[in-house]
Amino acid sequence: MSLQVGCPHCAASLEKYGDGWRCAVHGSVSALWRAVHSGYDAFSQHLMWAAGFPTTLPWPLPTGWWVTDFATVHDGERATATMASVAGSTHQDGPVEVLVVCEEAGVGLGARVSGFVHTDPGAHLGEERLRLRVDTRLHSFWPVTGASIHQGASSVVAGEVDGRWMWLVLRPASALLLLGGQFALADVSDQGPSLLELPFGGPAPVW
Ligand SMILES: [Zn+2]
Repeated sequence: MSLQVGCPHCAASLEKYGDGWRCAVHGSVSALWRAVHSGYDAFSQHLMWAAGFPTTLPWPLPTGWWVTDFATVHDGERATATMASVAGSTHQDGPVEVLVVCEEAGVGLGARVSGFVHTDPGAHLGEERLRLRVDTRLHSFWPVTGASIHQGASSVVAGEVDGRWMWLVLRPASALLLLGGQFALADVSDQGPSLLELPFGGPAPVW
């Protein structure tokens, strides 16, 4: 089994319940399918679950960085959210993790991954706007403010991309400076054969 089913909101395992899934804490939920180990086979399965939904990574991936984790929330008919993460190191920060969540409003995966209490970042955005390239276009992102269980350990920004929320979580918090300069993001789900050359590895980030 390359992917493991879990709750999008918490670390509890799910029980099959009729056609759907049930979390002991959150009741009836859409299933989160997360890689057991980051690897090409698991990523192929992830892309099947995520069909029609972007899986976005920092792109091109910096030399020496690798893909550490990925997951899809699927409501039984279609994907409603994805996350993917990369890790590497920079001269300034040492080991760095970058986690990217794309989700439809209200899914809650961005809040889970970033540790924020609020499912919808829209009412909790700071004022300092960043412009980031996602695929071929520049989009606006803002810092997410408010209570987080990872307060101080990470920087979190969010913006709207093609009608969905995109969350970026950077650890350590000082890695926010990465988002200047040449940093760009891309949906890698339609990259085809070049995905075979993606460097996969662990450990997965904690979320
Ligand atoms: Zn739960």
